[in-house]
Amino acid sequence: MNSQRFDLIVLGLGPAGLLLAHRAHQRGLRVLGVDDKNQLTNTYGIFADELPTWLPPIKASHSQPFVITRRGQRRFQRRYLVFDSEDLLTKLSTFPKITGTGTATSPTTITVNGTTYTARKIVDCRGINPATSHYIQQAAGTFLQPPANPQPLNDTEQTAAALRAGESLWMDFSSPDADTFTYAVHTPKGLLVEHTLLAGPPMDQQQLQQETHSFINTHGLQNWPIVGEETVTIALDRPHPEHRLDCFGARAGAINPITGYSVGTSARMVDKFLDYVLCAKTKNPFTSWSWMLDEKLLNAGQKVLIHLLKTPGNTAIFFDTVLHLPEHILWPMLTQGRPGGTLVAMAKVFLRLDRRMKAHILAALLPLPGRT
Ligand SMILES: Cc1cc2nc3c(=O)[nH]c(=O)nc-3n(C[C@H](O)[C@H](O)[C@H](O)COP(=O)(O)OP(=O)(O)OC[C@H]3O[C@@H](n4cnc5c(N)ncnc54)[C@H](O)[C@@H]3O)c2cc1C
Repeated sequence: MNSQRFDLIVLGLGPAGLLLAHRAHQRGLRVLGVDDKNQLTNTYGIFADELPTWLPPIKASHSQPFVITRRGQRRFQRRYLVFDSEDLLTKLSTFPKITGTGTATSPTTITVNGTTYTARKIVDCRGINPATSHYIQQAAGTFLQPPANPQPLNDTEQTAAALRAGESLWMDFSSPDADTFTYAVHTPKGLLVEHTLLAGPPMDQQQLQQETHSFINTHGLQNWPIVGEETVTIALDRPHPEHRLDCFGARAGAINPITGYSVGTSARMVDKFLDYVLCAKTKNPFTSWSWMLDEKLLNAGQKVLIHLLKTPGNTAIFFDTVLHLPEHILWPMLTQGRPGGTLVAMAKVFLRLDRRMKAHILAALLPLPGRT
């Protein structure tokens, strides 16, 4: 038994646990972090305007995002950044932490490496295990090193020119029957080209990899040296709540079931969640009515997406409409916990789709008895 009593023990130091423990320490709490790996292995992207003011400067690559749908290119105003994962870990590790697998034995005690630690509160930030998830986001990515002086292309290929100029392609849904898409974003490790299945049961990883390499070859990037590969599996299901411990981050459902992103939401929720940890009268923001309602709406959106994937080409038509919404309508839909914004955007998308697509959406949401 460790004799020191902490205010807060954070179990799991992925981006969510790190943000929570760092901020709690900054706010004067006695914090202990516990993680079985003590490393950040993924690529963590966030909008520049989602960065909390209390975050120390962290190395990141910044870029302007654009998408391609059947209607052509669309550029967004919001700037996007991808953290240098190592720097993120170093800069946020300002609190005491131990490496080992933690097992909570009560809401206030935890055992790590045979030693028991106690705290006023233990928060579960262990993320979601993709192996136990029904729906996953899956991708195969390749990191390319951009040349110091990229040669201008002598053809008029707009996408390649934008990538060479440092812009990031978020979604290429230009192919008419596409149900998967490619993205190519600038990261501190290089340009990451990744072919992605947005939501669904697992698919053949090799097929995704072939599509990634085909994009590289058709966009004049084949001479950029390959400096790394990554395989992505993001669990999209919310785990069944364990009532014994309060959860934060993906474990608490702070993962968008449509985009698979969680870091921006975790960053935004840290202070509200800490207010709840510190004051018995404050409600847990992850159990507020607005959070729960938005979760239901986004889960319905995920259901629609999975249904659309059954018919080739439907996903591309759907995103053609979603990605051309005005920005003030699009972003609130992707910001978790704001059901009003989600509802307005969903209604706009529905009204803009043709009768066939509307029928698909209704079939996904209102299954007839006896139909699977
Ligand atoms: C390749 C890739 C790219 C991605 N890109 C983005 C992106 O750009 N933007 C974005 O928002 N999201 C992205 N995601 C999703 C994002 O990684 C997850 O949503 C995010 O990691 C969830 O954060 P978390 O801290 O809640 O959980 P996790 O990152 O899963 O962290 C949980 C931590 O708990 C530890 N742990 C688990 N059990 C125990 C235990 N018993 N004891 C001690 N430690 C334990 C784990 O080892 C881990 O370190 C990406 C995912 C992948 C795979």
